[in-house]
Amino acid sequence: METVHLGLDDTDSSEGMCTTYLAALIVERLLEYHCEFLDYPNLIRLNPNIPWKTRGNAAICLRFRTDVVDLVFDECRDMVSRLSEGKRGKADPGLVLLTSHTIPDDFRNLSERALHTVIRRAEVLKILKRYNVRHYQEGSGRGLIGALSAIGNSLDKDYTYELIAYRPVTANGTRKIDPSSIFQMDEATKCHTFNNMDPNEGRILISSHGQDPVLYGIRGEDPHLLKEAASMLRLGEPRERMMIFRSNQGTGEHLREVLGPQAFAYSSGKIRGMVSENPAIGRGGHVFFSVENSQGVLNCAVYEPTGSMKKKAALLQQGDSIELGGGIRKKSNKHGKILNVEYLKVLALSKSFIQRNPLCSKCGKRMTSEGYVNGFKCGTCKIRSRRVRFRVSRRVLKKGLYLPPPSAQRHLAKPLRRHGREKDRVPVRPSGTWFEVFKS
Ligand code: ATP
Repeated sequence: METVHLGLDDTDSSEGMCTTYLAALIVERLLEYHCEFLDYPNLIRLNPNIPWKTRGNAAICLRFRTDVVDLVFDECRDMVSRLSEGKRGKADPGLVLLTSHTIPDDFRNLSERALHTVIRRAEVLKILKRYNVRHYQEGSGRGLIGALSAIGNSLDKDYTYELIAYRPVTANGTRKIDPSSIFQMDEATKCHTFNNMDPNEGRILISSHGQDPVLYGIRGEDPHLLKEAASMLRLGEPRERMMIFRSNQGTGEHLREVLGPQAFAYSSGKIRGMVSENPAIGRGGHVFFSVENSQGVLNCAVYEPTGSMKKKAALLQQGDSIELGGGIRKKSNKHGKILNVEYLKVLALSKSFIQRNPLCSKCGKRMTSEGYVNGFKCGTCKIRSRRVRFRVSRRVLKKGLYLPPPSAQRHLAKPLRRHGREKDRVPVRPSGTWFEVFKS
């Protein structure tokens, strides 16, 4: 038997299909070929600042053992060609099949960079050639970038799971899930699931309004507990299939790299420095300020939908020491290069002072100002003084980590619920029912 890593990306468009769903169709076929899965299907989110993504910049890798590699590749290629949006010219699918016990460093390095920079297709083609890897592409073949990157990320650092249930592709309209059952599920499972809903707005986050076949997706720490969570939902329509993915969602993996003020457009990462210019509130309620460190100055923006984080950013003050995570927005005619902030960590607050009039040395009352030349005078005792007092003003902003509400978070963003819950990988085979097709 050979060990296979099958990467897949860019099969969908905003008008239909979903790469995770196509992966679930492929898994069904691979199980018919008796492929032995070595891991849950991997759902790898890549640099969220890539402008040409359809939704959340997801790519898929399936890792399994099989005796029939050629058959498997031909079958997958055929499925991509028949079922992806590539055939309508709406997607640029890429399929990569690597046979190897270990993942080569070239794959790992490229995958690591695909989390926070822009990768050129030519670089991917070079690697595919160097390792003589089977691959298939349609359109521009841009999907090869995500397909190879998914193979290169074996989720050895922190990771999470997502149980995704699909409805028949013919279904349309609003997803029929009793909202109160989602609130109850969230309440009952909040120690091991995340971003089921946005508590501030009461908005449901496990399902969307898109044209894709996803009925709901529940994210969490443990695959078996995700199934329990799913069983708590009251559905008003049938599920066609479900699959559990292991993922880098909710890990903040795209923000590990340190960004300099010279960072390229579309890159993601974090920067530490001092607030060098007090925040200004722009049109639409967005907050703009700049941060400075030994390498230079970077302009930053915290946008209105980030809600409470935007309010905290508005309270920043020159000299505050902060760390920011986010993505670099491209320079345009209207604005220069800017960091779109995804998280704000206030490390130290600068002191600011309020000027106070002195107290009368005789009666203790506060004196009134008589102008710069005359100084201060007590209205009762008529005593004069020139000694201005200063008091440290109390800052409303506190040290700490500030995030946008769940509805404004990237798939990769690490939600507050997950801080301190990061896990190291213990190699485990997929267990229990991690894939199921429901009879209609
Ligand atoms: P969905 O989340 O619905 O699967 P998507 O948001 O993943 O859709 P795609 O249709 O897959 O969007 O398009 C993203 C494209 O960007 C893919 O072709 C992928 O190969 C490419 N891509 C991903 N990461 C990078 C990167 N770091 N540099 C360059 N291209 C990238």
